[in-house]
Amino acid sequence: APGCLCADSSQEVVIELTPRSMEQNRMGINNNNREKQPYLQQQNVCQMITNMDMFLLAKLPPGVDKAEWLASNTVAFFKHINLFSSALSEFCTPGTCPTACGPGNTVYVWIDDHGRKLKCSAPLYFDYAMSYIHDLLTDEDVFPTKAGAAFPTGFVFLVQKVFLLLFRTLAHIYWSHYSETLALGLHPHLNTLFTHFTLFCQQHALLDPEDTEPLQDLIAALERQEMTLRGNTDLKI
Ligand SMILES: [Zn+2]
Repeated sequence: APGCLCADSSQEVVIELTPRSMEQNRMGINNNNREKQPYLQQQNVCQMITNMDMFLLAKLPPGVDKAEWLASNTVAFFKHINLFSSALSEFCTPGTCPTACGPGNTVYVWIDDHGRKLKCSAPLYFDYAMSYIHDLLTDEDVFPTKAGAAFPTGFVFLVQKVFLLLFRTLAHIYWSHYSETLALGLHPHLNTLFTHFTLFCQQHALLDPEDTEPLQDLIAALERQEMTLRGNTDLKI
């Protein structure tokens, strides 16, 4: 791809300078100056819809099967994140978002069934992602719903794949649609969802640090706040 600096097919991520970002740089707007991002401003970071203990919420409850816990949370996160992105769908069009971008000039490229890279608009990318997840979650062989049915070999790998796609959905929302989220008053919902999501991923080792790197500054800010709320500043994840 023109302007492509780095491509890693296993992660489906291409970091590149798009014409738009180059133009912004010419205009003196630096996308990598994350301090300027409104989602990192303290008055926004502290907005949550609950003061429930998110660390506790993410933990495997005693006596619960780990695969069952992963499966039920995967379904719940998919529903909530799908609902959230649907609420913003009118603002995410091929015109506003010609690429599926995230913080720091990250661009997500879809890999089709034949391993071909498909550079597509954000709405198309996230349509593919949501359909892919929906198909997995409704596949009885992968996410069994019948009592006593076994989870397949490689179940955790598929769960990790789902969480990666959901993370990218949230990364795009924070990066490209935070102003609309603010205008709709949905930012406390987004922060609550994202905090629960990232703590769940950490608790169950679902995402690699390199995948979450684009939003690492926000993850750290939300965690710091969660720890302060719990009155436990010694707790380190
Ligand atoms: Zn968008």
